[in-house]
Amino acid sequence: MAMLLETARRVVIVPGYGLAVSQAQHAVRELATLLESKGATVEFGIHPVAGRMPGHMNVLLAEADVPYDKLKEMDEINPTFGQVDVVLVIGANDVVNPLANTDPSSPIAGMPILEVGNARSVIVMKRSLSPGFAGIPNPLFAADNCLMYFGDGKAAVQALVAAVKEG
Ligand code: NDP
Repeated sequence: MAMLLETARRVVIVPGYGLAVSQAQHAVRELATLLESKGATVEFGIHPVAGRMPGHMNVLLAEADVPYDKLKEMDEINPTFGQVDVVLVIGANDVVNPLANTDPSSPIAGMPILEVGNARSVIVMKRSLSPGFAGIPNPLFAADNCLMYFGDGKAAVQALVAAVKEG
């Protein structure tokens, strides 16, 4: 995974509720800065209902001094995922669940999602395959271009930072 990130030119980080739970915002900022120092462009894809309150992700990332111009709203970033090397999904689930588009009986049917599956590779960091707020499975996690990295959000990001530094 560290190698995937080291060679990536364009990286998008998608934060969700698990980022807030694990308080991973400072570690995520460190990872973004590190990847930028290796020449990557790093942006954040912000879903309007990520987390548990409006603006939740913006508040956390601002606290960690992530520059505001790196936060991209869903409508802006969605058309660009085809040109993204790696999407790092950190503690998000429902906001990247393709069932919203494909299963009309799903509780999230019709909710616009961040179309992260269009990127070359997706790395999902969460503790398990447990569902999010909507209580439904996420087929993204089984996609061919998706790697699961199980762990607490903050600890997992810190481990990735260490691995990229070593590499
Ligand atoms: P989700 O609730 O869909 O998923 C969050 C994921 O975070 C879980 O699957 C969980 O997986 C993971 N997680 C929990 N703790 C940790 C941890 N310590 N480290 C790493 N991962 C962790 O979050 P999203 O942000 O994708 O979506 C928000 C949901 O909340 C939507 O359904 C939205 O409609 C709803 N909502 C949003 C509101 C808002 O105003 N933003 C208000 C009310 C509801 P695991 O247990 O495997 O780690």
